[in-house]
This record gives sequence, C-alpha cells and structure tokens, in this order.
Amino acid sequence: MTQRLVVIGGDAAGMSAAAQVRRLRGREELDVVVFERGRYTSYAACGLPYLVAGEVASPDDLVARSPEEHRARGVDVRTRHEVRSIDVGSRTLAVIDLDTGDERVEPYDDLLVATGATPVRPPLPGIDASGVFDLRTLPDAAEVDRALTGAGTAVVVGAGYVGLEVAEALRARGAQVVLVEQADRPMTSLDPEMSALVAEALQRLGVRAHFGATVHGFDTDDRGSVRAVDTDAGTFDSPLVVLGLGARPASELARAAGIGVGDHGGIVVDRSMRTDTDGVWAAGDCVGSFHRVARRDVVIGLGTHANRQGRVAGTNLGGGHATFEGVLGTAITRVGDLEVARTGLSVAEAAEAGLHPVAVTHRSSTAAGYMPGADEVVVRVVCQAGSGRLLGAQIVGGAGAAKRIDVFATALWNDMTVAEVAAMDLSYAPPFSPVWDPVSSAAARAAVEVAAQ
Ligand SMILES: Cc1cc2nc3c(=O)[nH]c(=O)nc-3n(C[C@H](O)[C@H](O)[C@H](O)COP(=O)(O)OP(=O)(O)OC[C@H]3O[C@@H](n4cnc5c(N)ncnc54)[C@H](O)[C@@H]3O)c2cc1C
Repeated sequence: MTQRLVVIGGDAAGMSAAAQVRRLRGREELDVVVFERGRYTSYAACGLPYLVAGEVASPDDLVARSPEEHRARGVDVRTRHEVRSIDVGSRTLAVIDLDTGDERVEPYDDLLVATGATPVRPPLPGIDASGVFDLRTLPDAAEVDRALTGAGTAVVVGAGYVGLEVAEALRARGAQVVLVEQADRPMTSLDPEMSALVAEALQRLGVRAHFGATVHGFDTDDRGSVRAVDTDAGTFDSPLVVLGLGARPASELARAAGIGVGDHGGIVVDRSMRTDTDGVWAAGDCVGSFHRVARRDVVIGLGTHANRQGRVAGTNLGGGHATFEGVLGTAITRVGDLEVARTGLSVAEAAEAGLHPVAVTHRSSTAAGYMPGADEVVVRVVCQAGSGRLLGAQIVGGAGAAKRIDVFATALWNDMTVAEVAAMDLSYAPPFSPVWDPVSSAAARAAVEVAAQ
C-alpha cells in the first residue's frame, strides 16, 4: 500500500526533505504532502534584507522552487494550509485551509515537523501597532517595503545580524535609521573588541546606534499606527519600526502533541533527525542541534543547518542512511563596508563551557600590502589554554576577509590545534593575501600565546 509522508512547513528544511524523499522513492510507493501556511515555498529568507535594500529586484528572485515546480516533481504542496494540531496516537493532523476556513483531518504514516522559528515579540505596549514589523517572510518584506515608501525615518530594534542587515538595507533606501540595542554593543556573539569594529562600521553607514538602551514601548496615533519608540536613550519618532530581536524555535505544535522539546526550546532529535515519538521527525530552526565544540545541544537558526538537516531527514525517510553531525554556529554577514564572520565559541561562550579559553587578535591584510584594494582584516582566534585546541574564530575586515572563516570552521570540525592550523598549506598570490594568510598568522600567534602560558 502507498505510504504517506506529511511535512509541516514548506521552506528550507521541509522542502529539502520532501525533494530528497522524492528523489529516492517513487510516487507509487510514497505520497509526499506538504502543508505550508504561507503562499510561497523554498524561499530564501536570508535574502530578505537585500530585497528590501533593492539589491535583489523581485521577491520571485528569492524563490528557489515554487509550489507549482514542487508539484511537477511529485510533491503535493498545499499552500495556505495551517496545521493546528498533531495527534500522534491516531497519526493524524488537524489542518485548516486558510482561504476557505475548511478544517480537515489528515492522516500520516511518517511526519516531518519543519515549522521553523517564530520572531521574538516581547509584550511591550504598542508592539502590535501597524508599522511595527518583523522581517521573516516574503510578505513581511513587502510590508516593510510599502511602509518605507514615503517614510524618511526608521527605527530598528536589535543589533544581531538580522537587525544590522535591515539597518543597512533601510539606509540603502535613503532612510534615516536609528538602531536601538539593549546590550552594550552590536553582535554579542562576537567578542567585545570585534563588536566595536562593527559599531564603527555602523557609524560609517550613517546609522545612529544606541547601545545599552532598552525599548519600553511604542507610541501610536489614533489610527493605531506607530509614531515613536520610547527607549532609555530617548524617544525616536518614526512611522516604521523593524524588530530584529531574534527568533525562537516554533516547537509549540510538537510540544502540545507530547513530542519531546528540550530546555533550549527546540524539538529534541537524534542524528538521523528522528524525534522521541514513533513516526515523527523534525528538522530546521525548530530543533535543537549538537554543538561540536560546546558538546551540548543548542538552538541556532541558520539556513545552512536547516537545508542540511532537511536533506538528512529526507534521505532517511527515503530509505537511505544519513546523519547530521552537529553545528559550529558558523555565520557570515556584511555591515556596510565591513565583512563579519564567526565560528565556534567566543571567549565568553568558551569560558561558560568550562574550556579555559586564551584569545589573540591579529591585524593583517586581505591582499599583499602593495596591491591596490588591499584592505585591513582583523582575526580573533580563541583556543584552549594548555592544549592549544582551536575553540572558535572571528573575522572582520574588507572585501575578501570574511569567507576565510571557513578555514577555521574546517579546522574546528576536525578538532585541530592552533599550531596545526598555522602549519596548513594555504594559498597565496598578491591579489588574494599576504604570503602568510591572515588565518595562518593569527593561528601562529595564538600558538605562541598558548606556549608562553
Ligand atoms: C532576515 C533573515 C536573514 C537570514 N539570513 C541568513 C543567512 O544569511 N544565512 C543563514 O544561514 N541563515 C539566515 N537566516 C536564517 C534562515 O533563513 C533560517 O534558518 C531558515 O529559513 C530556516 O529554515 P526552516 O525551514 O527551518 O524554517 P522557516 O524558513 O522558518 O520555514 C518554516 C515554514 O513553516 C511554515 N509553518 C510553520 N508552522 C506551520 C504550521 N503550523 N502549518 C503550516 N505551515 C507552518 C512557515 O510558514 C514557514 O514557511 C536568515 C533569516 C532571516 C529571517
């Protein structure tokens, strides 16, 4: 008899899984049904800030595969269908068609939960006013775009990478941008001295950043539209506010069904992406992942993890064998003229994990100093006192700087010491790096520092 796989969520994790299952199993063996509450599938949320900025011309450019294209490949995608509950006993779902209001009970043999993450919206006065946006979906981007037209000012709340990318996008569209962040610096996943360089880049961009400033609420006009943001650092008038306060795993549906959810808020899965409940799998931003350096499960929402986890789940659901081997939290972004990247643990995170970190900061150049276009790159290496084991790295700098983080990520993945990283055979020609690549020289300095202790 034909089995039925049902996927909840039609973006990175869910559609990677569905497409992979379809590659491995014929239509006569397995039906693959995807319920997605939005209108789009397989869209690059990562590209949303660049869509708002106007660097990406059209929302369609961010859609890797439309519902019609998935259907043509044998995946039964039902957009505008929201799953309201899961009954793991009867292996059924309660599903509502958001256009007609019709409710149905849908059976499954296997279920993949790929519900992603929900943006954090603290219960502040006025937060639900019109003009206060998240940037998580294509419709969100369209709304920000609409609100931006005619708005000379904008306030961004939160200076994580999404908040910074949004601030840059709004500047690119000509808005006066105020950025408000509760922490005393931007990008707290970096060590403070690296965050300071990001703060300088924001200044160069013309963003008026206020750190250590808490938002108390949003003033609204008599039509319920936002008109100002009240903070410790003052009241900022603006008809447009974008929240970049992070996101939490969308695991409520799973939790309510009795599927295991960890203290970190993500669904608990094993390396094959199976949950603790028979026939139920999960992948993407809604799950907890094993951090290979901290040696514990964490929640880090990244498209890289979601696509890979979806592929692993799909391979296993398709009758193959694959495992997801954990995360390092490798991430990269751009803040104006500055490239920023990190992998592994910061000093604070390593100390919290009891790993006794030692760190060095090394300044070098993206190309041989005599080449036109050579720019500064600052590399920070975090390693373990005594053993010299690499624990993490951060890079900020000009064009060509940040992708070097992948060398550190590879070394971290393989549990290398900083001395081993320094000894690696990395490429060199004047347009691309000094003779000693910044990765090599930073790792060598870290090795010296460890030896001197
Ligand atoms: C602005 C922005 C920039 C980003 N930039 C980067 C980047 O540069 N690099 C990077 O690696 N990551 C980036 N990310 C993160 C990346 O987009 C996410 O990690 C990735 O989209 C997660 O994929 P997912 O499939 O797990 O979840 P999602 O993409 O959130 O998809 C989940 C889907 O499930 C649907 N859904 C949820 N609940 C239900 C339900 N009950 N019924 C039906 N459907 C449901 C939702 O509508 C959604 O479409 C960025 C994210 C944002 C918001």
